[in-house]
Amino acid sequence: MPNSNRNKDFSKQKSIFFDTQEDLEKESDDSYTFLEKPTPVQVKHQASTSSNPFSKVEVDEPQPPLCFISFGSGSSGNCSYVGTTEQGVLIDAGIDVDNVFDTLAANGIKPEMVKGICLTHDHADHIRFAYKIARKYKHLRLYCTRRVLDGILRRHNVSRRIKDIHEAIFKEIPFKLAGLEITAFEVPHDGTDNAGFSIEYGDKHFVIATDIGHVSERAYHYMTRANYLVIESNYDAHMLDVGKYPEYLKNRIRSANGHLNNADTARFLADNFTENLKYIFLCHLSADNNKPDIACQCVQDALAEKNITVGKGEGSFDDKTKQVQLVALPRYVCSRWFVFRE
Ligand SMILES: [Zn+2]
Ligand SMILES: [Zn+2]
Repeated sequence: MPNSNRNKDFSKQKSIFFDTQEDLEKESDDSYTFLEKPTPVQVKHQASTSSNPFSKVEVDEPQPPLCFISFGSGSSGNCSYVGTTEQGVLIDAGIDVDNVFDTLAANGIKPEMVKGICLTHDHADHIRFAYKIARKYKHLRLYCTRRVLDGILRRHNVSRRIKDIHEAIFKEIPFKLAGLEITAFEVPHDGTDNAGFSIEYGDKHFVIATDIGHVSERAYHYMTRANYLVIESNYDAHMLDVGKYPEYLKNRIRSANGHLNNADTARFLADNFTENLKYIFLCHLSADNNKPDIACQCVQDALAEKNITVGKGEGSFDDKTKQVQLVALPRYVCSRWFVFRE
């Protein structure tokens, strides 16, 4: 029977956003520990390779370029696609399924070209539609650590069947999916077992570090080798100071396990800039305590102090003369479709 009462439509559940009092009151002292055995991950969608040496034909086909699009970024929902025009993965599932797949279709990506969904952590703005997407597209599995899955089940009203579509991953142990080599790494935040992802494609690294209270040692390791970096720039410190949030919530956001502010993001980028970094995407901007112009200006000023020239990521002739492109990802709408040609 279609749409039976077992169908728990996650989109209709009460929203539990981080950055709200409701969510913050639920959080804290997560004493659950899971002993993760760092065993290699078997993935379902690894490209097949022949074991017969005589059948091996060396063909120097050029790789299609890596592409990226964000479907929304911030406490109202996060989801993005990373891959080529042939295959790729979703990072997080906080945007509704039709929005995501209609936009992908408009860019030539069919559902079967999406090989999996990588989840950063269990806050609702990152996982709200995970089960719904996987129910609609049954080939899709959820790639996250067991603790993240456990956090989803513990915190949210979602079918336990979500376990059946889970693919366990382990931090610092790369796995292959959609022609990409993906490594989850630890980021400090107040979700359960929060991860960033470093995605290797050819000799390039696409790195996403969202919901990150500070740049910890392992996060630093991955973020500083990125060619294309999605980095949180959550709030302007002054706007948060004088804003309407209660003091305990402000403190939570400012804490080392909260969110990264514009100035800290700008300082990290300026202090660690190398010529390898070609794109900076500022993500998870607060609706109440930030504005895209303020965040971009803050980063641009810090880079300008080091004589680093900054483009707008629009592919214009002027942009091509700049060392790095800087883009603030929109909160509620899709970004443009980015193609990384260098
Ligand atoms: Zn978030
Ligand atoms: Zn979060």
